[in-house]
Amino acid sequence: MNLDETPAEAAFRAEVRDRLMAEIVPLVSGRPVGFAERLEADRRLAAAGYLGYSWPTRFGGAGGDPIMAGILDEECSRAGVPRSLSPSRFGADLLAPALMAHGTDDQLAELLPGIRDCRTIWCQGFSETEAGSDLANVQSFATDAGDHLVLNGSKVWTTQAHEADWCFALVRTSRDRPRHRNLSFVLFDMKQPGASIRPITQLTGEAEFNELHFDGVRVEHRHVIGGIDDGWRVAMTVVGAERSYGQLSRYRNYLGQLKAVAAMIQRAEAGPRSTWLRELGELTADVTGIRNSSYKITSLAAAREPLGVLPSMTKLWWSSTHQRLMDLGQEVAVATGTDLDHWQTEWLRSRGESIYAGTSQVQRNIVAERMLGLPK
Ligand SMILES: Cc1cc2nc3c(=O)[nH]c(=O)nc-3n(C[C@H](O)[C@H](O)[C@H](O)COP(=O)(O)OP(=O)(O)OC[C@H]3O[C@@H](n4cnc5c(N)ncnc54)[C@H](O)[C@@H]3O)c2cc1C
Repeated sequence: MNLDETPAEAAFRAEVRDRLMAEIVPLVSGRPVGFAERLEADRRLAAAGYLGYSWPTRFGGAGGDPIMAGILDEECSRAGVPRSLSPSRFGADLLAPALMAHGTDDQLAELLPGIRDCRTIWCQGFSETEAGSDLANVQSFATDAGDHLVLNGSKVWTTQAHEADWCFALVRTSRDRPRHRNLSFVLFDMKQPGASIRPITQLTGEAEFNELHFDGVRVEHRHVIGGIDDGWRVAMTVVGAERSYGQLSRYRNYLGQLKAVAAMIQRAEAGPRSTWLRELGELTADVTGIRNSSYKITSLAAAREPLGVLPSMTKLWWSSTHQRLMDLGQEVAVATGTDLDHWQTEWLRSRGESIYAGTSQVQRNIVAERMLGLPK
């Protein structure tokens, strides 16, 4: 793996950095950054042609390769708008790859432009109370009503559902077919009367995710992706994308936080400095490893080679490392009285990282079974 950038990649990075410095940094620096600022940042990225930059030109992208997409990820994070928090991520990073892999020409023509231009904001309706890690157990049911489908049931933990225009969801469409062959991947308008939303307040006091209830929600036949009862493979494309998108934006984010913790330790007049410094050293090694692993994923994707279990290993690594980094950040902040609200909120936020996009236990199972060949 060659870590040096080609002249074209270096020129692209410089162009992106200048543009983000002019158009995004003034929008998000020196103020609390919420959904509205992130959405405006997404719209500016879209106007600059950076959203969907790596999509093939026939799908309305710029045909940039995964390395260019990685450079964009890093630079967005450096500018204060990491992909992992961007409102457009569910559409551009999770749904679009699944549409390109499984959608028909008509579906691509109808759906991709709204994602690329950031006109349509999406949410992901997968989890239910009895279907999280065991996703194939979803019970929300869509019945064929002739010219459309009618959806009843509920979902939970749906991030940004209250802001979304549309939802992509995995639902059951048959009762008598084998598991995994009775599920469909459907899209529907969130603003219709049968779709209701109840916000869930998190430990941070924010309500970023929700319960969804469907009471006769209308799903058009043309909005079933991959065919009726054949949605599992579409959902698996989304799950794969979820584990590997925005990797470089995470690493860049952690690097900034490592530096902030180091600065707090440097200013500390009391406290177990040598213990903190040792932990800081170990975290620096882990963050460097996450960077290298993310570069590996990016170069495998660029070479169109299979990623294997690398996204699962990396997901496990970034979530556990970031939780340790937030443990240290909070401890030093409390001991030094620095920016307590900020570190407390970040610490609380990091708790969910070992749960979403596949829990740590599930990632360990994947690595154990598929890489190490251990028995189930
Ligand atoms: C911040 C956040 C945002 C989220 N956003 C979304 C979203 O936008 N859309 C969406 O659909 N979902 C979302 N989720 C839900 C998330 O995908 C689920 O929480 C996750 O899949 C785990 O499912 P569960 O909560 O039902 O836990 P369960 O699957 O019930 O797991 C409970 C515990 O059992 C363990 N476990 C389960 N199965 C196994 C196994 N086979 N082997 C070993 N251990 C196992 C798990 O690791 C976990 O520790 C979000 C979650 C969080 C925290």
